[in-house]
Amino acid sequence: MAKKDKIDRKNWNKKIREKLIEQAKKAQKHSYSPYSRYPVGAAVLGESGRIYTGCNVENASFGLSMCAERTAIFKAVSAGEKKIRDICVVAKSATPCGACRQVILEFAAKDANVICVDWQPLEKKKEKVTLIKVSKLLLKPFDPSQAGL
Ligand SMILES: [Zn+2]
Repeated sequence: MAKKDKIDRKNWNKKIREKLIEQAKKAQKHSYSPYSRYPVGAAVLGESGRIYTGCNVENASFGLSMCAERTAIFKAVSAGEKKIRDICVVAKSATPCGACRQVILEFAAKDANVICVDWQPLEKKKEKVTLIKVSKLLLKPFDPSQAGL
């Protein structure tokens, strides 16, 4: 019985990962990136089980641009989610930037996965998926609880 449960859980995790990748790819299509031409999509799984997506949104005043990961996380939080179970980012050589890593650390469960998908829709290459544990995202990150916040 226990062995069967383990297999089911593994399949469930694979299904969730595939769903997040599919949703992140859909979100990537909405990227507004006329300046960098670097479309990024993201999808996060909230603790409720709902999935929230985001894409990068650039602005002619570059400092106002927003990454796909933070767009998705802020959508989840503004919908009432308190914790992120997993997050997926899709782009060519996708991996979250430093600012997004700090935001991910604040909202993600300690055992959450960051699913990085190296994929560019215009290239005909097969996607490459890399998993990073949230705990490995930043070396000595800013910790609000240590700062008394
Ligand atoms: Zn970022």
